[in-house]
Amino acid sequence: VWENCLHFIKDNIQPQAYKTWFEPIKSVKLTDNALSIQVPSKFFYEWLEEHYVKLLKVALTKELGENAKLVYVIRMENTYGNKQPFTESIPSSNRATMQPQELDVPVKHKNPELKNPFVIPGIRNIKIESQLNPNYSFDNFLEGDSNRLARSAGLAVANKPGGTSFNPLLIFGGVGLGKTHLAHAIGVEIKDKYPEKTVLYISAEKFTQQYIESVKKNTRNDFIHFYQLIDVLIIDDVQFFSGKSGTQDVFFHIFNHLHQNGKQVILTSDKAPVDMQDIEQRLLSRFKWGLSAELQNPDFETRISILKNRLYRDGVEMPEEIIECVARNIKTNVRELEGAIISLIAQSSFNKKEVTIELANQIVEKFVKNTKREVSIDYIQKVISDYFQMDVETLQSKTRKRHIVQARQLAMFFAKKYTKASLASIGSQIGKRDHATVLHACKTVDNLAETDKQFRKYIDDLSKKFAQ
Ligand code: ADP
Ligand code: MG
Repeated sequence: VWENCLHFIKDNIQPQAYKTWFEPIKSVKLTDNALSIQVPSKFFYEWLEEHYVKLLKVALTKELGENAKLVYVIRMENTYGNKQPFTESIPSSNRATMQPQELDVPVKHKNPELKNPFVIPGIRNIKIESQLNPNYSFDNFLEGDSNRLARSAGLAVANKPGGTSFNPLLIFGGVGLGKTHLAHAIGVEIKDKYPEKTVLYISAEKFTQQYIESVKKNTRNDFIHFYQLIDVLIIDDVQFFSGKSGTQDVFFHIFNHLHQNGKQVILTSDKAPVDMQDIEQRLLSRFKWGLSAELQNPDFETRISILKNRLYRDGVEMPEEIIECVARNIKTNVRELEGAIISLIAQSSFNKKEVTIELANQIVEKFVKNTKREVSIDYIQKVISDYFQMDVETLQSKTRKRHIVQARQLAMFFAKKYTKASLASIGSQIGKRDHATVLHACKTVDNLAETDKQFRKYIDDLSKKFAQ
């Protein structure tokens, strides 16, 4: 059958196009009136759908009659180069471990509006595109102390969406620490394990825009209804909801509906719930129902493995000392870590120069200069302990001795002033206190600064050390 179709197609298109788009189509299978054709990639499938669907239809109808159906199967090469079973997904090394029958999934139609005659029976026409980026996988989200909790909570949720106590799962942390990556990875993994589930990734900003639009167009109910159909809702950067009471209100209803029906909600934010401002209390309390997991600054080891993974994926080799140089200097942001290594690769290939340690230093320096250098909480504690001639353990200890309490409160005060860390994270880093203690410390320091001359001097001295 396929042979005949090919003849027909060949006669009707340019030889070059035939060669490019039809010759690579390999194994085919015919069951009843459905013909499966195997294409090398998702892109290939999309191209065929877009450009040759009519031609295919005519060819196939000629052979199989009016009820002809076409099923695309996307071929994947596994890591050993063997032809592996089929998947609708983009190849990725971890998929090689999956069971073949799970992979034998025909492609769903990309655009349901197409009203394609080849709608595959029994396969639901998905109307909701997940908006997931398959490059953000768990595989390339490297694990370290800084992200272990968040990563494993994410995996747990991906294994049993809606079925763990991590609902909602809130991932929070500073800029460039991997919130968006991890959020996608969870969605991608769920889609992999449960292809029938409707997953949606959306930024809080886009959600807000959609909502405002729906109010303008008087389709608010449709908007709510749409979101209530989703099995796994991922909303990125929910701090964006702050001060937007209409959006918060509608999200509150959607959230309740999903949660009551055992659907999974995943949120990310640049702050812990306790530190979020201008978010309604009832919403904040919902956020705390599940698990809040923090992404912290990656430690040196993790930075090294992230860099190596990046280089490996790009097929670039780089001397160990250069990798270490980058990892040593760029500490607070994974995006910049990657940015530095990429510009290093670019520079060296552009100038056809070896990557030397000098070049590495130059580039790293630029990166560090561009990001306002942030004093770390460790550094603050060290400086303050030195200033009061105690060690860091003493500063962090539970003792109530006045001068030690004051040193500790100053550390919290400066951490709040000079870092972007949340109150909760400051507290946990300075002797495992909670955010209320940090807040109290900051107020106490403010008060003492006004009433106590000696104390004022401490603040001035220390400020000079941190401000330079
Ligand atoms: P955020 O949303 O927190 O600002 P992103 O998720 O956009 O951060 O991450 C910034 C970049 O750093 C992305 O390219 C991401 O792939 C990378 N990244 C972050 N954390 C990791 C990690 N643990 N392993 C590998 N890459 C990471
Ligand atoms: Mg992000």
